[in-house]
Amino acid sequence: MSNENIRKVTTHISQNEGLIFEHSSPGKKAYRLAELDVPEIDASAELGAALRTESAALPEVSEPEIIRHFTRLSTWNYAVDHGMYPLGSCTMKYNPRVNEVVSRLDGLAGAHPYQPEQISQGVLRIMKALADQLIEITGMDAITLQPAAGAHGELTGILLMRAFLESQGNARKKILIPDSAHGTNPATAAMAGYEVENLRSNEDGMVDLAALEAQMNEDVAGLMLTNPNTLGIFDEQIAQIAEILHRKGGLLYMDGANMNALVAKARPGDFGVDMMHLNLHKTFSTPHGGGGPGSGPVACTKHLEPFLPKPVVVETDEGTLRLDYDRPQSIGRVRAFYGNFGMLIRALAYIMANGPDGLRQTTEDAVLNANYLRKKLEGTFDLPYSTPTMHEVVFSDKLQSKSGLKTGDIAKRLIDYGFHPYTVSFPMVVHGALMIEPTESEPLEELDLFVDAMKSIAQEAIDSPDLIKNAPHSTRLSRLDETAAARKPVLRWKLESK
Ligand SMILES: *Cc1c(COP(=O)(O)O)cnc(C)c1O
Repeated sequence: MSNENIRKVTTHISQNEGLIFEHSSPGKKAYRLAELDVPEIDASAELGAALRTESAALPEVSEPEIIRHFTRLSTWNYAVDHGMYPLGSCTMKYNPRVNEVVSRLDGLAGAHPYQPEQISQGVLRIMKALADQLIEITGMDAITLQPAAGAHGELTGILLMRAFLESQGNARKKILIPDSAHGTNPATAAMAGYEVENLRSNEDGMVDLAALEAQMNEDVAGLMLTNPNTLGIFDEQIAQIAEILHRKGGLLYMDGANMNALVAKARPGDFGVDMMHLNLHKTFSTPHGGGGPGSGPVACTKHLEPFLPKPVVVETDEGTLRLDYDRPQSIGRVRAFYGNFGMLIRALAYIMANGPDGLRQTTEDAVLNANYLRKKLEGTFDLPYSTPTMHEVVFSDKLQSKSGLKTGDIAKRLIDYGFHPYTVSFPMVVHGALMIEPTESEPLEELDLFVDAMKSIAQEAIDSPDLIKNAPHSTRLSRLDETAAARKPVLRWKLESK
């Protein structure tokens, strides 16, 4: 084991939880108030029964203690600002600081959603500019910026599909979903009231066209295609898939969460897609994690435009912008106000800072980085599909399973080497999947460190499998009960709960 490759996580481990969390002692303060320069009032006379008589029991600590406490807590987590975060499918790329600077400008950070249109022109201009850029990037005709996440965008898109088909007196029952799709796809289709029908992949990891031909009929509203799919494989038959659906009156939804492999190289609108979502918090660098806020705009073709959520930003003849609510066929609102506006600013800043050439370079680097890892780790880890991959690569734990190790064990050990784990056991078409997405953010040096770590772990799997089975060893807590953590989360530390 190459110890020098292990970047120690900063810990400050104490066996005594109380010493970690409880710093309060009476009389300490982290503030100093100015001398009172107004007459003192009799608070009990002014406030009566509303006056607090008991202490609020807030912690009493000094400023350095507060700073140290929160800084220490922040080191117990892992962030994209610490190092490589190769969580496949999630595109954990760097969040440029210029985005933050722009989104904090007074006129933007202080804008209120109830402000009249006349004094919101700048804000509306940003929404319009982003909409135009995303339409250009996707090759679609129209867009809504309202949805607050990718899955929310999917639901919006499928509601558009249904509204469109119903407007033609052609409500249908089923949605086809390839087995390489993201898990949110079938969940979305079911939530929108459709029956989900599974569609087989062929041995190249793409949609089986013969199966599609056989399953496509007048009961099928459409198909949801993640492309590139969760194997990182671009389904190059997408135009044929669209054609098969369209011939029988169905629509093609594209899950665009993996657009980091396509931006400024290929446009879904050019290959027959009817509607799609984007994840601004993946492809367009807005912060991501801790539950949000995200943003999942939905782009669509002309024939679906009348059904988009309202309001829509439109340009008047005088060149000013306004919000158009007069959309009789709209599916209605999917989100309060206009979506997560702060994220829209950041995404626009990212697009403008990069420009078309920068975006193209970004896409090429994302694909190059993933293929560098694929090449370096092939042989050390089993590669279940030999089809070329784009921005991510999926290995399996087949070789390590001979030592009784699973993908989750290898992922835990990776934490000891200073990396966030890759995505574990997903996609489900691969047994024991290791799904790795480095993104374009990683320099060659970091990729090489990752390769060293993975190779070192593969060697440990042969020499000392128990080391991996009990990992991580460098964190404050090691293996948690993941089910209980999800079902019964403890969100607040209390001394008495110990
Ligand atoms: C992340 C992702 C989603 C869901 O997006 P959220 O913003 O997490 O709701 C859907 N499909 C794919 C392929 C994804 O990677």
